[in-house]
Amino acid sequence: MISRAFNDRITGFIIHQRIRMVYDLHTHSTCSDGSLAPAALVAMAAEYGVTHMALTDHDTVSGVAEAQQAGQSCGVNVISGVEISSLWQGLDIHIVGLQLNSECPTLIARLEAQAERRMARAQAMCVRIAKDEADAWWAQLLALTEGRPPGRPDIATLLITNGRCRTRDEAFRKYLGTGKAGYVKTDWPTVETAVTWILEAGGIPVLAHPSRYKLTRSKLCRLIATFAEAGGRGMEVSGVGLDTNKVAQLGRLANEYGLLASKGSDFHTPATSWVRLGKTPPLPSICEPVWNLFPQQQD
Ligand code: AMP
Ligand code: MN
Ligand code: MN
Ligand code: MN
Repeated sequence: MISRAFNDRITGFIIHQRIRMVYDLHTHSTCSDGSLAPAALVAMAAEYGVTHMALTDHDTVSGVAEAQQAGQSCGVNVISGVEISSLWQGLDIHIVGLQLNSECPTLIARLEAQAERRMARAQAMCVRIAKDEADAWWAQLLALTEGRPPGRPDIATLLITNGRCRTRDEAFRKYLGTGKAGYVKTDWPTVETAVTWILEAGGIPVLAHPSRYKLTRSKLCRLIATFAEAGGRGMEVSGVGLDTNKVAQLGRLANEYGLLASKGSDFHTPATSWVRLGKTPPLPSICEPVWNLFPQQQD
């Protein structure tokens, strides 16, 4: 007799073969520091064969409705999302929220407060970097961002257009990176608070790009433990630039802390040639994918 589990595995295999799901659960649009409008981003995701895409703009859900509408017309399942800036032991840590209610008034009010923090931070950065010319830089920044909350990449644009740096990399290396000449500490919410915001909006909290914080293994474990204890559910295990060993190592860490595994390109712009929508290494087979929490689709 064929066991139920075996039968389920065969059925799952057949469904998988037929549909070929391609997930990208970390992307940015012009609503934060990306270069494509939400609808154009979704159209590009469709071109690259992405079947499930989350729009995770920095501290805003303002592009979700447009992306979901575009998803309906080009056959991409668009999951609502956000990437919240938070703090843990003085470090900037990013928490992705997936499948949250992007119309939740409490969430929107909390993200508006994040936008205000971004405004205050950008103003303070202009003062630190441009000194006497801070007012002119601030006016330039407002013209550049056209009402959306500013980010450090916008200040990088000003550093380049005003001839202070040649590249974005140089701008971050000399001025915008943690502790550099133009860096301003921001009173972002704690990691625990960011997790709570996502949970209260009905979403799934996912620790973004854990290897990008350049923490020692023991410190990274403490961050993951804090995140998991606060109610975090997932962790990005696969991303651009991670080799098989690194992905496997992150997969083991996720399992150790009872977290589901996510994958995303952190796509910002087609100009970055090594980042392509949907193109990230596969999740290790030992991991449970975060999309197991998404509702099953009827087809
Ligand atoms: P913010 O959210 O305003 O703190 O800005 C952080 C964003 O800056 C990240 O999400 C990246 O998109 C971008 N970024 C960080 N480091 C660099 C870098 N070295 N070069 C270019 N962009 C960077
Ligand atoms: Mn960004
Ligand atoms: Mn990030
Ligand atoms: Mn991101």
